[in-house]
Amino acid sequence: MSKKQKKMLARIIVSTIMLIVLNFLPVSGLLRMALYLAVYLIIGADILKKAGKGILNGRVCDENFLMTVATIGAIALAVYTKSGDYNEAIAVMLFYQVGEFFQSYAVGKSRRNISALMDIRPDYANIEQDGRLEQVDPDEVAIGSVIVVQPGEKVPIDGVILEGNSDLNTSALTGESLPREAHVGDEIISGCINMTGVLKIRTTREFGESTVSKILELVEESSSRKSRSENFISRFAKVYTPAVCIAALLLAVLPPVFNLITGRPAGWENWIYSALTFLVISCPCALVVSVPLSFFAGIGGASKEGILIKGSNYMEILSQTKVVVFDKTGTLTQGVFEVSGIHHNEMEEAKLLEYAALAECSSSHPISKSLQRAYGREIDRSRVTDIREISGQGLVAKVDGRSVAVGNTKLMKQLDMAYADCHSLGTIIHIAIDDSYAGHIVISDIEKPSSKAAIAALKKAGVNRTVMLTGDARAVAEKVAADLGVDEVHSELLPGDKVNKVEKLLADKSPKAKLAFVGDGINDAPVLGRADIGIAMGAMGSDAAIEAADVVLMDDDPMKIAKGIKISRKCLAIVYQNITFALAVKFVCLLLGAIGYANMWLAIFADVGVTVIAVLNAIRALRVHKL
Ligand code: ADP
Ligand code: MG
Repeated sequence: MSKKQKKMLARIIVSTIMLIVLNFLPVSGLLRMALYLAVYLIIGADILKKAGKGILNGRVCDENFLMTVATIGAIALAVYTKSGDYNEAIAVMLFYQVGEFFQSYAVGKSRRNISALMDIRPDYANIEQDGRLEQVDPDEVAIGSVIVVQPGEKVPIDGVILEGNSDLNTSALTGESLPREAHVGDEIISGCINMTGVLKIRTTREFGESTVSKILELVEESSSRKSRSENFISRFAKVYTPAVCIAALLLAVLPPVFNLITGRPAGWENWIYSALTFLVISCPCALVVSVPLSFFAGIGGASKEGILIKGSNYMEILSQTKVVVFDKTGTLTQGVFEVSGIHHNEMEEAKLLEYAALAECSSSHPISKSLQRAYGREIDRSRVTDIREISGQGLVAKVDGRSVAVGNTKLMKQLDMAYADCHSLGTIIHIAIDDSYAGHIVISDIEKPSSKAAIAALKKAGVNRTVMLTGDARAVAEKVAADLGVDEVHSELLPGDKVNKVEKLLADKSPKAKLAFVGDGINDAPVLGRADIGIAMGAMGSDAAIEAADVVLMDDDPMKIAKGIKISRKCLAIVYQNITFALAVKFVCLLLGAIGYANMWLAIFADVGVTVIAVLNAIRALRVHKL
């Protein structure tokens, strides 16, 4: 509990006791009034102050204003009718404050829960100097430095393991509770916790560019992207509160005036009382608080599962997803190719692989990484010049001064190179050296173990169309699609063709059904931006993809797509439940109030009760693990 909350609680308790005692004290007249007013001020002074400030800043008609007018009105009525019953006015303030207290407690608690689970920000990095470990600010560690991470410490900066083996706890990043093994040579991302061994890591990024910083940035920014429902609520409150104020005024004035005209007693007290009740009922706090809180909890819950949703607007779109379009390499398949055959002309097998690996030395495509791994030796970059990558086709470069082209049949055709067809099933990488065809390397990728289940889960979650788009050869693409149960497949596409296909799919569906594109961002960042919602593979994906995407899957597991959709549906369902519930209760109470059946007690109970229920319901959005 914060200091402010403790103070608030103390005021609630003191004024409650005072109010009870006062009711047994035999005082009357001015003294009685003064004592009750004191209690009123103890419990309500801050609301009066806020209402005053609101009026000065031109924000009339907020909740504070409503409560102030209603309670001061009730006191004035008690004075005017000489009833001496100030209990009602004070009780309204008291209950309102109880509601506020609860609300601030619940909101604070869930915010703390979420930031605890986002507690991945490292405080320091260890640098070894003269045999001693020194703690430095991670911001000051340059790329290529060697840092030491001891068991129990967070990995502060992305890098590659130089020394040591360990188990990593990645649960804060991916929601995966099993530890992951890490060995020398493995890439390691910041934010996970080193559990067993001491690791020496060579950093590959600056702290500001590292995974932790990126994630924290995303989560911090997510609340500024408002969903339609949230915008609806703030617009609604802007119109609703003044409208209710005017309605209350009319209710206080019109019937008595009508009575006077028709020659009956005016009944001012009754109608003013009804109008004040009306004001209390109309307080929109349940909505104003619970809707943003639901989204916040939903985004927090999703990030705990390794699904980063960049804003509540994306939460909303995700819940309406009916078409899911996939990239193949790195998304449905692992993007870790094994060389399964080398077919060559005169050149030696090893030489062919060497040329290919050298030419690929600076590409970030999974194919390039795989060829370099198959080559297995240190790459001397000084032998390579004039690299030009042609996305969706391959690349050309000069190796030892000889021009080398590495890529698919499209590239060979473009270079007017007669290539040999290959009948092995796999991705065929053709290589031409110095204007003559040198041979090809057959590589094959493996499907991710969860891809098939992921497609099935999407169908179960109500996605009615799944499509795979790939730049790879048709035979490979069709085999993968058939294995996984994807509805449709389009192959041999250039990055631009993928955008066109997605545009066609967008035009094809009803506007209410949303289209998601899932990719790793290598050659598909434009498509990520074009889809209704772009989902990127965060661990393997490129930085460009993580920037361009609206949702990032931290562990590259395609199962998380269906999970994300389910989380968003739950969150949206909670938002709608709260909106309907709050509006329905208000509406009934307003109706009762208008015809004189509701008193202020009922009104304040309804208001505080609805707020409490709505806030409790909103917190449910955080619990998504079992979805
Ligand atoms: P996907 O749609 O499956 O992710 P890409 O669009 O990234 O595939 O690439 C399509 C095809 O272009 C690859 O299957 C490969 O034949 C060729 N290609 C792309 N980049 C490279 C590269 N760096 N080296 C060799 N071939 C490449
Ligand atoms: Mg790709």
